[in-house]
Amino acid sequence: MTDTWIPVESVPAESAESATVPQERRIVTAVPGPRSQELQARRTAVVSAGVSSVLPVYIERAHGAVLEDVDGNRFLDFGAGIGVTTAGHTPARVVEAAAAQSRDVLHTLFTITPYEEYVHVAELLAAHTPGDFAKKSVLVNSGAEAVENGVKIARKHTGRRAVAVLDHAYHGRTNLTMAMNYKAMPYATGFGPLAGDVYHAPSSYPYRDGLTGEEAAARTIGYLDKVVGASDLACLVVEPIQGEGGFMVYADGYLPSLQGWCTANGVVMIADEIQSGMARTGAYYASEHFGWTPDLVLTAKGIAAGFPLAAVTGRAEIMDASHPGGLGGTFGGNPVACAAAVAVFETIEEEGLLAEARRIEATLTAGLERLRAKYDVIGDIRGRGAMIAIELVEPGTAETTKAPNAGAVSAIVAHAAQQGVLFLSAGTWGNVLRFLPSLRMTDELIEDALGVLDDAFAALD
Ligand SMILES: *Cc1c(COP(=O)(O)O)cnc(C)c1O
Repeated sequence: MTDTWIPVESVPAESAESATVPQERRIVTAVPGPRSQELQARRTAVVSAGVSSVLPVYIERAHGAVLEDVDGNRFLDFGAGIGVTTAGHTPARVVEAAAAQSRDVLHTLFTITPYEEYVHVAELLAAHTPGDFAKKSVLVNSGAEAVENGVKIARKHTGRRAVAVLDHAYHGRTNLTMAMNYKAMPYATGFGPLAGDVYHAPSSYPYRDGLTGEEAAARTIGYLDKVVGASDLACLVVEPIQGEGGFMVYADGYLPSLQGWCTANGVVMIADEIQSGMARTGAYYASEHFGWTPDLVLTAKGIAAGFPLAAVTGRAEIMDASHPGGLGGTFGGNPVACAAAVAVFETIEEEGLLAEARRIEATLTAGLERLRAKYDVIGDIRGRGAMIAIELVEPGTAETTKAPNAGAVSAIVAHAAQQGVLFLSAGTWGNVLRFLPSLRMTDELIEDALGVLDDAFAALD
């Protein structure tokens, strides 16, 4: 949808390609190093134990695809803050746009006195989300808040109560969204009572269920019909590629079939593109890969390169269902976050980041195929663009039970961290290793990381 790009004035081009952090892997101390260990001790005294960190190295600077910690170690970042720094760490246009906006106005509250940047972001979202129809948006602060608002809008529009999600889904950590996740641990255990009227339908998991898209959709629809009943169902919320669930790519035709059933039954179908959106998969929105045009689309993570911003965007008649004053929030659509988002859209266009995502997919999947030929614990390779994962199984079970191998994933993540590569796990059973780099990750750095990964596989017993 690049033809609908709306240019912005006065944001300088990538001036600082001179980079504040060299794009390389470099380990100069133990990991974590002494200064990180001091900070960890301070943190443990004052930060809730409920907030954990994958790798407690304290980051001082970040640029492009590299994190530099307080001890001078440099890490190739294959997590990108869970798909947030898609346009790279500290991209020049975004940094400049946010700095300029900070000098002009930091906050007014759009629901008191509005400003242009909010409107500009809504225009860009209308232009770049799937579907050629009139669209409107509301801007909020976080992904979970976007999910909550999507559900509110769908309920108001339909006058119905029930919310459906899919197995292996992840939608957030607020009260409603923790009821929408598949996994109780760590998201909901002990935090109840959970919100009611949330239904978990069976999904499509080609690697394990062997169903076609049509068969899997029939199973999902059968569940929704029998257990919920379409006349009570306000919305079905689906990640086009599941994030925390392990970068699940559903069987062909699955998503359009579900949308067809939703449309026929007056159910609002919502794409949670919080992790998969904003150019990450080589399209602005992953739904596009699967021929799916959702009614509403949720955007967050990658939209503003780290500034907290999220959106619900979709069919104007649905988005207008709320009475005036029904949607909002103090910080929603903050002007600095909006200026950053406008600059992210510009960066994607001007620097060809959609093509970069496709380049990353090609390099990464070719390298992972080479590793699969060598290590039989690699059961599945899946994903799109810079959202690729491998699912690991116990040795000797790839052709039989496909027994999940979470131990191998933890060992690889730990091994790679010591070598200066940050990988993240995922998956219902913790047996998925995901690659979610910024679109600035070069082929050279990917090959370097694949070498580390090869060593990590070789070191498994
Ligand atoms: C991260 C995520 C959320 C929640 O977003 P927050 O900003 O952490 O609230 C919701 N859905 C998906 C698919 C996500 O990846």
